[in-house]
Amino acid sequence: MLPPATPEEVTGLPDAVALIHRFTNTDDRRTFVVHGRRLEANDRLATPADLERWLREHDLPDPGGAAGHTDLARARDLRAALRRALGERGEVLLDLPVRVRLTARGAEPVALGDPVTVALGRIVAAAVTATADGTWRRLGICPAPDCQWVFYDRSRPGRARWCSPHLCGNRMKTQAYRRRTPEET
Ligand SMILES: [Zn+2]
Repeated sequence: MLPPATPEEVTGLPDAVALIHRFTNTDDRRTFVVHGRRLEANDRLATPADLERWLREHDLPDPGGAAGHTDLARARDLRAALRRALGERGEVLLDLPVRVRLTARGAEPVALGDPVTVALGRIVAAAVTATADGTWRRLGICPAPDCQWVFYDRSRPGRARWCSPHLCGNRMKTQAYRRRTPEET
């Protein structure tokens, strides 16, 4: 089995939840060994240029080469807030200008401001949409300390604990077993 890092992980999912999945996993913390290869933690939003590239790849407004460190910091703060919320580690109050458009079809969040603000606002709007369509509650963070991958739980009951029971579930169970039964010297 391949490491759980492929775009196929979000294949068939609504755009909103797929966007949250991709954005939160730009902070890839996985360092476990799979198929004899140790994964390397990788932050895909390490520089302002990274942010521009990521926004373009996801059809979000980008500032056309003008992204600065403040923009990067705001994107990383939003990412940390989403990961904190998904990891059930408390409540986050976001400070982003998101308005609400009301029509006969209903209410929808609308992001306003400079390109990066609009892009981040759209990610927040995606979280609102994912909450409304019931997909947000199926997102979780793998509790394995050497993983912490944000995964979408496709199981029918929706109570999956690990991003992969085969990889992370088994690895953590083996480590716990070793701790309980120290090898004799
Ligand atoms: Zn995992």
